[in-house]
Amino acid sequence: ATTRTPLMAGNWKMNLDHHEAIGLVQKLAWTLTDARHDFAAVETVVLPPFTDLRSVQTLVDGDKLEVRYGAQDVSAHESGAYTGEVSATMLAKLGCSYVVVGHSERRQYHGEDDALVGAKAKAALGKGITPIICVGEGLEVRKAGEQVAHTLAQVDGAYAGLDAEQAATTVIAYEPVWAIGTGEVATPEDAQEVCGAIRGRLAELYSADVADAVRVLYGGSVKSSNVASIMAKDDVDGALVGGASLKAEEFAAIVRYR
Ligand code: PEP
Repeated sequence: ATTRTPLMAGNWKMNLDHHEAIGLVQKLAWTLTDARHDFAAVETVVLPPFTDLRSVQTLVDGDKLEVRYGAQDVSAHESGAYTGEVSATMLAKLGCSYVVVGHSERRQYHGEDDALVGAKAKAALGKGITPIICVGEGLEVRKAGEQVAHTLAQVDGAYAGLDAEQAATTVIAYEPVWAIGTGEVATPEDAQEVCGAIRGRLAELYSADVADAVRVLYGGSVKSSNVASIMAKDDVDGALVGGASLKAEEFAAIVRYR
């Protein structure tokens, strides 16, 4: 139900090696091509581990695949003494179109806060990479009925350093933490409530044009069997998919939700 180009992004997390990565991307592209998928109508993105990106780049470039790809994290720093980090320049050179920032697993296990998430988004934008900025509440917040206020505070924090032009090129993923990897998907109404509120906040922070331009994804136990009902909601422009993106046919079915 969106006028924006829907975006389906597969977050592989820390799974697969480079052989498996190539196999999955090939199978995904073939399945979609066989089904005559219009890649311009629903954008298809895979987000492999850093160590698979070069292999995916070689395959996508060599076979001229219309699948886009990106990374699961990026450093906020430009370059230098940051052992273990990967810069936006490095990702840009590998042909990454997207990068996930502020995934709840990074917030939870690596102590990432909204300011760092915003700095990472800014670093990505500076190199022409679209950040997929993840926000969303945990179970306690949901039980208290505070999901909208909590998530909008994350949006405020992450966008504090971004101007309107930068904001307009971002993607936001609303991922309620209690729905990630649990099989417990939010209802379409739950997803719409928060995705709509996020768009409203972007209009307040920037303008109606910016709010209109930004794609807001839902993430959390999305499968081919539940994606269509969530995508039917006005403010849901796509999905960030974890587990179900590791199977080519299942992810292809999600991409072909309509
Ligand atoms: C995710 O990790 O972004 C995610 C939504 O995972 P899953 O689809 O497995 O719940």
